[in-house]
Amino acid sequence: MKPVKLAIVGVGKIVYDQHLPAIKANPDFELVATASRNHTIDGVPSFGNIADMFAARPDIEAVSLCMPPQYRYQAARAALDAGKHVFLEKPPGATLSEVESLRNLAASRKLSLFASWHSRYAPGVRLVKAHLAAHAPRKVNVIWKEDVRHWHPGQDWIWQPGGVGVFDPGINALSIFTEILPNDIFLRQATLEFPANRHTPIAARLSFNEVLGAEVEADFDWRQTGEQTWDIIVETADSHVHLKSGGHALWIDGKPVALPEEGEYPALYRQFAQLLTSGTADVDVSPLRHVADAFMLGERVITDPFRD
Ligand code: NAP
Repeated sequence: MKPVKLAIVGVGKIVYDQHLPAIKANPDFELVATASRNHTIDGVPSFGNIADMFAARPDIEAVSLCMPPQYRYQAARAALDAGKHVFLEKPPGATLSEVESLRNLAASRKLSLFASWHSRYAPGVRLVKAHLAAHAPRKVNVIWKEDVRHWHPGQDWIWQPGGVGVFDPGINALSIFTEILPNDIFLRQATLEFPANRHTPIAARLSFNEVLGAEVEADFDWRQTGEQTWDIIVETADSHVHLKSGGHALWIDGKPVALPEEGEYPALYRQFAQLLTSGTADVDVSPLRHVADAFMLGERVITDPFRD
């Protein structure tokens, strides 16, 4: 197909780190513009906001929305109203209702909407999903512990309402286990730790029920210095699965499994190109729903103030 004329809205850390190299390496896309208040990309026409960008470049066919989630809905609505296909960074919105609204709008306009979950495209995820389809899980432990100061330096939005705090990385774990577990799970109990001076949690412990009775426990913590941990460990009746490094390393029964060398963002853009070709949408809100459930059901504990 002819390269799709793509624009990026909300240029920041994830755009420089991941979107740009993935788009550059994908012949299905041509980056023709950006809309961002303060940031630009060398060699790409830049605009201060999405309205000015669409007015100047009516040839834009699709947009990737990479701003913090609290500001995604308005941009997505403007893009769909202007007849553009939309790629949403994760999480796809600040509320479930926003995403539902976008899904309906995209369907009514016959436009593609992609609620992306990059961690689902880590190379170990597909293999574990296939394994668990044949070996029913009995016990799942999710350990997602990282250093917020390292990964989110100076990002105030993650501590504001809608920024979801430790669920910003935690939702990556949720996006993996909603993909690999063969049956529905739902939250039973949660404890969320909020720094005394912040609006979103710095740590969360979650216990889920799986419909067939498997226990699922998750421990998210943003205070981990030193080695970082993004692990999912699954016990089945006859196997032990250890998905490590956010899905980039896999051990089954104590033995390493060879994984393809595949980046998450190149795979995301391949999926977006397929959605555009087939005229379809990919909008799964289940990871965001578990976050909403945690805020609804979770016990709130106040902990030490957090200073950046
Ligand atoms: P970021 O660098 O803090 O923000 C991206 C850009 O959004 C900013 O540079 C800013 O550009 C724009 N922005 C910030 N506040 C805004 C506002 N109030 N209204 C409109 N635009 C605003 O964040 P990020 O780390 O790239 O994360 C962005 C999204 O990607 C988040 O949803 C995050 O969960 C997701 N993500 C991040 C990572 C990561 O490693 N950082 C990984 C995967 C996914 P201007 O100032 O130029 O407008």
